[in-house]
Amino acid sequence: MKISYSNRNRVFNIHTENIPYLSFDMLDNLGVPNLYSTRFVSYDDLKETGKEGLRVVVMKTDDINEAAPVVRANRDRLARQLSSSISRECFTDQKHTNNVYVVTDNDIGASRFEEKPARIRSVDGLITDKRDVLLTAFGGDCPPVYIADPTKKAVGLLHSGRQGTLNRISSVAVALMKERFGCDPGVMYAAIGPGICADCYEIGDEVYDSFAAEWGVKEADRILKRYPGGKYHLDLREACLMTLIKAGIPADHIVISNVCTRCNADIFYSYRAHRMENEQAAMIVNRFRN
Ligand SMILES: [Zn+2]
Repeated sequence: MKISYSNRNRVFNIHTENIPYLSFDMLDNLGVPNLYSTRFVSYDDLKETGKEGLRVVVMKTDDINEAAPVVRANRDRLARQLSSSISRECFTDQKHTNNVYVVTDNDIGASRFEEKPARIRSVDGLITDKRDVLLTAFGGDCPPVYIADPTKKAVGLLHSGRQGTLNRISSVAVALMKERFGCDPGVMYAAIGPGICADCYEIGDEVYDSFAAEWGVKEADRILKRYPGGKYHLDLREACLMTLIKAGIPADHIVISNVCTRCNADIFYSYRAHRMENEQAAMIVNRFRN
């Protein structure tokens, strides 16, 4: 799998058995099962082109009756690579909110969005302290944020798109983990997953204005730069990093992905690269080595 990295820091392990996926070294070292999927159904597919890619979520354009069993089976195959299953899963529905939901054992096992209880609709973030619960989020260019607290044995997973990042979904999640599970951010870890890089992410001036209004000009200037040609570019992953540090997670407990979904559109689905047939799954299981 030839991924192009934006720097040489190795933050991922690459798994090519069964369904290929990436996992974060840092979370692997804590014994926390985690993954980020690719477009590929199997390792053999990597060597061929033109094959239908991995489908992990029902898209608006899909026939739900045809697609639902396929995506369910694929997600179960991914989950099983983490020694879990979709019977233990709760997933977000990517509404670009900063809503974070506390998942209990009563919230797992829905097979599609429509079957989820109303209380888990319109959430972009999930946290849980229940052992072996599997959290899943989907995305093309929006980076997922994985959070783990080895002391309280709790995890979180966020879909941090432009709007969720603007509204600091990472800090909402950390605050809720403090409040509900008694977590101390000083001992927590976070991993910012693959997503669109700043070079690929041209945006309008109104996005700069909204970050400047919400975050202040000084911080907006750190994540939004005018490129030659005059357009702003947004560094979403850097924005997630700043939010997590501000929420109290030590900088050396945070890893930031050096993989851009659009730069690697032959490997990942990417909205901006017009590879929108499906999305990637980000998964984390609330299980620690000790
Ligand atoms: Zn890129």
